[in-house]
Amino acid sequence: MYRTHTNGQLRAEHIGQEVTLAGWVQKSRDKGFIVWVDLRDRYGITQLVFDEERTPKEMMDKASKLGREFVIQVTGEVIERVSKNPKMETGDIEILVKKVTILNESLTPPFTIEDNTDGGEDLRMKYRYLDIRRNPVRENLIFRHKVSMAVRNYLSEKGFVDVETPYLIKSTPEGARDFVVPSRMNEGQFYALPQSPQTFKQLLMVGGLDKYFQIVKCFRDEDLRADRQPEFTQIDCEMAFIDQEDILNMFEGLTRHLLKEINGVEIGEFPRMQYDDAMKLYGNDKPDIRFDMKFGELNDVAQHKDFGVFNSAELVVGIAVPGGNKYTRKEIDHLIKWVKRPQVGALGMVYSRCNDDGSFKSSVDKFYDQDDLAKWAEVTGAKAGDLICILSGETNKVRAQMSALRMHLAEELGLRKADEFAPLWVIDFPLLELDEETGHYHAMHHPFTSPKPGQLEMLDAKPGEVKANAYDLVLNGNEIGGGSIRIHDKETQAIMLKHLGFTEKEARAQFGFLMDAFEYGAPPHGGLAFGLDRLVAILGGQETIRDFIAFPKNNSGRDVMIDAPAILDQEQLTELNLKIDLQEK
Ligand code: ASP
Repeated sequence: MYRTHTNGQLRAEHIGQEVTLAGWVQKSRDKGFIVWVDLRDRYGITQLVFDEERTPKEMMDKASKLGREFVIQVTGEVIERVSKNPKMETGDIEILVKKVTILNESLTPPFTIEDNTDGGEDLRMKYRYLDIRRNPVRENLIFRHKVSMAVRNYLSEKGFVDVETPYLIKSTPEGARDFVVPSRMNEGQFYALPQSPQTFKQLLMVGGLDKYFQIVKCFRDEDLRADRQPEFTQIDCEMAFIDQEDILNMFEGLTRHLLKEINGVEIGEFPRMQYDDAMKLYGNDKPDIRFDMKFGELNDVAQHKDFGVFNSAELVVGIAVPGGNKYTRKEIDHLIKWVKRPQVGALGMVYSRCNDDGSFKSSVDKFYDQDDLAKWAEVTGAKAGDLICILSGETNKVRAQMSALRMHLAEELGLRKADEFAPLWVIDFPLLELDEETGHYHAMHHPFTSPKPGQLEMLDAKPGEVKANAYDLVLNGNEIGGGSIRIHDKETQAIMLKHLGFTEKEARAQFGFLMDAFEYGAPPHGGLAFGLDRLVAILGGQETIRDFIAFPKNNSGRDVMIDAPAILDQEQLTELNLKIDLQEK
């Protein structure tokens, strides 16, 4: 037996017992006549003591040579500590060591294995196994385990069956590029790694499994915007013989269960918001509703005066910043600079101060009198002491800019509280989305999403207006899940693919298997997938998913620890019958 106890276990009641412990040397303090060593494992820290009076000389020598992160095993007696440490769970006792075995030595670690380490992100990722020894990282991984177990238990109890689907497949379009894998046995052919198990879970419904779930890796080769990973984990779910209401209720139940189980927070019914309203009121399809600052559209009350900037704008929109009148001129100038940064892209910002005496002072007083400004306050819901910020221009752009400003201000004002949870459903998404660059429509969710009943006919005349049976679950300004009711007949699927620009031949080549399956009695079905990494991070009160992934990749998609991706050696290329001929970009 390597150990009788863990390093987090021993208490005063164990005094007098002989125990064997194992773990890593956290630190040692060598006073010459006495050596203290903190021994660490996953469960905690126990203090070891070697002292001249009671410890044989050669063991004293050995003790003084124990370096940081040495792996040791000790046997000794649990004794009462002279100076107790109430901050440590094992702080009442220490171990008077009788035998010490060095199980493995360690080089000096490249950063300190402490809660607040001196190691930068790159270094920690290169030596991630050392990073994982640190409490915050280990705790995050255990937290993730708790969430995923709670998910498994809940869904299993509700009758969902956990089924694994293959990784070596053919493209499942979710709007990203595929990662591809060459096939040795089928020369010149490639598998695609799944962007999601979408088509397989639909086939499981055709197979009659009725309720499926899987906690599964998905692979998407896209430019890694902040806090994305090329491989990430979904809680992927599908149900048959359901309508949208059933799905929303089931997964609202799961989310509520998690918030209660993991965070001890009870949340009532989740609000539901139409996609169009979310865009109008928050400029965003994943609004953070922990705080207000809803958009007020000011076209009616701000246009047709002499202010050309507003008159020529498609949308004039304002938000009331609570208590914002306290901002100094300099601070407001800062905000204006902030919205003009290329990442936000506004041309400028108009503002109106709401003074305590009920008067207003705007940056466009030349064009607007007090009555006009009072109307702005009314539309944006501004009160005395607030600041109204106004942007104008082309609708979609202004909404995105204002949404960025709203989040920025909320962050500055401390309104994005990590321990507050505000979930909501955003429903009735458009079926198609116009790609401004190519002028083509693509599926806003994915090509298997069904249009709202009776709207299929509108696809030709007004493709942009067709609404889908699609929904997202939003938590604290993050999309944590999304899904849809699916198309389950061949004709509709064919029409959809045609509208997405697939020729009949292409549709057949890529999705023939699904269309064939639809000819054998496919039940009505639908589902959704949660992003597990993000969900765990939010429940854990943090923003970066990397902190909750054991071995994450960096922003260039590299694993700096194993140094991947890497080039293949010639032998492997020959086996695959591949020749590398890199093209100039
Ligand atoms: N496959 C979808 C996704 O990855 C989720 C779903 O529609 O169920 O976003």
